Amino acid sequence: MSRIAVYPGSFDPITMGHVDIIQRISKVFDHTIVLVANSENKQSLFTAEERKALILECLKDIKNVEVDIFEGLTVDYVRRRKAQVIVRGLRAVVDFEYEITMSSINQKIAPEIETMLVFARPEYYYISSRGMKELAKNGGDLKGLVPPSVVAPLLKKFGRTP
Ligand code: ADP
Repeated sequence: MSRIAVYPGSFDPITMGHVDIIQRISKVFDHTIVLVANSENKQSLFTAEERKALILECLKDIKNVEVDIFEGLTVDYVRRRKAQVIVRGLRAVVDFEYEITMSSINQKIAPEIETMLVFARPEYYYISSRGMKELAKNGGDLKGLVPPSVVAPLLKKFGRTP
């Protein structure tokens, strides 16, 4: 049986922290699906299609990773794709409370699906999509924080050029 992991998130936009998690989990699982959440409740800077395109561009060298868009409960998607694991990244302590709550809810409604948490690398510990948007808006240097192909599209959203 092939082991399939689903890595869900907003990815608005993808950062070096996300790329690192994807690279690491793609070595552990046979197949990894990066799942872009298309949530109506969350205001996003990039559309789901734009977010997917940016992720695909960064991951084109990894063969066992695909990117999909989904609206709804992650566990429904995981079941449909016959995956076994939801992967989430863990940064600071503040992530912990949210992740344990989500994991507990998912365990209750889908006991056969495991949530696995992967610690952020120290050098990416402080990187968040939100922080990157703030930097872009105010003309901060994004080098090394978001993938090179994300820099120009992110700056463009704020009327800036690299
Ligand atoms: P969400 O809005 O669902 O939290 P995000 O796109 O912000 O989606 O993050 C998706 C996942 O990636 C989450 O599990 C988050 O904790 C994790 N993540 C975000 N930034 C980093 C980072 N710098 N290093 C490791 N994991 C991260």
